[in-house]
Amino acid sequence: MRILVLGAGFGGLELTTTLSEELGDDVDVVLIDAADEFVFGFSKLDVMFGRTTAEHVRHRYADIVKPGVQFVQSTIHAIDPVAKRVETDAGPFEGDVLVVALGADLDPAATPGLLEDGHEFYTLEGAFATRDVLDRFAGGRVVVGVAGTPFKCPPAPSETALLVDELLRTRGLREQSEVALVMPLPVPIPPSPAASEALLTTFAERDIEWHPGQLVRALDPARKVVLHGDDGEMPYDLFLGIPKHVAPPVVEAAGMCVDGWIPVDPLTLETRYPDVYALGDVTSVGTPKAGVFSEGQAKVVADALVARVRGADAGEYDGRGRCYIEFGQDQVAHVDVVFRAGETPTGVFDPPSAELAARKAEFGARRIARWFGRTWTNV
Ligand SMILES: Cc1cc2nc3c(=O)[nH]c(=O)nc-3n(C[C@H](O)[C@H](O)[C@H](O)COP(=O)(O)OP(=O)(O)OC[C@H]3O[C@@H](n4cnc5c(N)ncnc54)[C@H](O)[C@@H]3O)c2cc1C
Repeated sequence: MRILVLGAGFGGLELTTTLSEELGDDVDVVLIDAADEFVFGFSKLDVMFGRTTAEHVRHRYADIVKPGVQFVQSTIHAIDPVAKRVETDAGPFEGDVLVVALGADLDPAATPGLLEDGHEFYTLEGAFATRDVLDRFAGGRVVVGVAGTPFKCPPAPSETALLVDELLRTRGLREQSEVALVMPLPVPIPPSPAASEALLTTFAERDIEWHPGQLVRALDPARKVVLHGDDGEMPYDLFLGIPKHVAPPVVEAAGMCVDGWIPVDPLTLETRYPDVYALGDVTSVGTPKAGVFSEGQAKVVADALVARVRGADAGEYDGRGRCYIEFGQDQVAHVDVVFRAGETPTGVFDPPSAELAARKAEFGARRIARWFGRTWTNV
């Protein structure tokens, strides 16, 4: 059986690693990605806030050596989900099974003024460039704002506001500065009231303005104001933005999307095309767009494919994800959330501690050891 896996992000790496561990050379897995390296989402914040270097957080795909898995670095230009065939810079590839794990793309140009006078930190380049912007910042009003829903890692804007506050305090600039957060959500972490309360209390303690339930529509660079909600305006000296998210154009062009994302069976991750699965941020499966959910979905697809090879029964997706939340000052919290189709999401919160900061470091280290076979720690 040949399995084509499109995208070597959180989901594609977990899927191909599990297939190799379980089936080794019994399957032929081709993993295709346009990039030559993987970077954790949280590493973008670590680099941006000067905790580590860009070089340290890059994990080269060339280091992947796994029985049964061939990595191809190439851009995918076309997907035919019926023929299970893709066109790439390196030529065409065809599989018996196709798994689309191409993530969400970002469209900063969709928000007027964002590229001109703001700084998006969700792309790799954007996050790394924002490090220099923060280095040069001499104090003033910082606005962290979200320009579209859905967006990756719902805690990340809150984490960013807290880390901006910490940075300004460390550099002695907090007194002459303001920090504001504009979020489309009514509370920071909707499935966990305890996590939301802890964040809102910390925002109040650290004098971070909280503006819920609204999106950033545009920046007006001439007047240095953020336009948000229906008719709101607020001044900024430094705007840090989460851009609008879209499915990668190649997925949209393949006709696989409905309302912008690939619909899948929430229990099996099957698409409407036979033997074609989709997982992670590129889908509308109903979980937040976050690596831990992509990983959980990859395990379910891997399980189904292993079961198929061995003639066994496969498990179903449980919608569970365990996320770490940076509070700054070396404190990290944890929330264990479950998004099951047709049920109200729930979450269990562990308050911030240094111990959870160490557990977050282990979380990253374990995955790099499994996926890339090397020893690493996040900072
Ligand atoms: C600042 C920030 C902090 C975050 N923190 C966390 C966190 O703490 N925990 C957490 O769980 N998640 C976090 N996330 C979210 C997380 O990074 C993503 O949700 C996760 O990576 C999604 O995994 P995925 O496999 O679905 O897609 P991705 O990891 O995005 O992988 C998709 C892959 O597809 C490739 N690709 C796309 N188009 C093409 C093409 N045409 N041809 C070839 N290759 C292509 C891309 O190069 C990419 O490697 C964070 C994100 C950000 C931005």
